[in-house]
Amino acid sequence: MVKQLQGGKLPGAYAYGFYHFIIDEAQYDKIAIMSKNFYITTTLPYVNAEPHIGFALEIVQADVIARYHKGLGEKVVFNFGTDEHGQKIYQKALEENKDPQTYCDEYAKKFDALKVALNLSYTHFIRTTDPHHIVAAQEFWKLCYKNGFIYKKNYKQKYCVGCELEKSDSELVDGKCPIHPSSEIQTFEEENYFFKLSEFQNKLLKFYDKNICHRRFAGFFNFEA
Ligand SMILES: [Zn+2]
Repeated sequence: MVKQLQGGKLPGAYAYGFYHFIIDEAQYDKIAIMSKNFYITTTLPYVNAEPHIGFALEIVQADVIARYHKGLGEKVVFNFGTDEHGQKIYQKALEENKDPQTYCDEYAKKFDALKVALNLSYTHFIRTTDPHHIVAAQEFWKLCYKNGFIYKKNYKQKYCVGCELEKSDSELVDGKCPIHPSSEIQTFEEENYFFKLSEFQNKLLKFYDKNICHRRFAGFFNFEA
């Protein structure tokens, strides 16, 4: 499987890197030290609205960092793309009387047009509906599952479709999302898959110690099982 990913297209190569981070730490360190490669990605925006100025800020900042590393002579992979999986996207497509893939195709084009509009230097535009992305995501899932990092449990959660986010009671005002007061909060109860992030706590803390530039992101992780 690893060989197959190694020889595959780039998202497969990312999965290959993840493989070593999860399974074989020594090999991961060796790859990281030997390579003069630099990888940066933006968040992948949902295609449920036109690109907006807030996202322009994020991608221009990423572009500055990517160009800086290119200037240092490093091989830069600068990733951008679109997240095309989400309930809100499905609902928007229905509102516009389009099938979801046609709807996503139209919006993906609008986001990719930012390359010219903002003079961006990204090297890859990955859509989550790209066949090679799907293969890489599935391989990564299987790898985690096989190694016991994915488990199922029952789960009840309030959810705002507008934010595409789960909400705790303390985040709601009179039972509504303060950002989307006109839409009803949905409650889900279902059996779901979870990733055992807590198993990576020590490994990640060690990684942040060795890689100072990653440290400022450490606060985003929540290690509760
Ligand atoms: Zn909301």
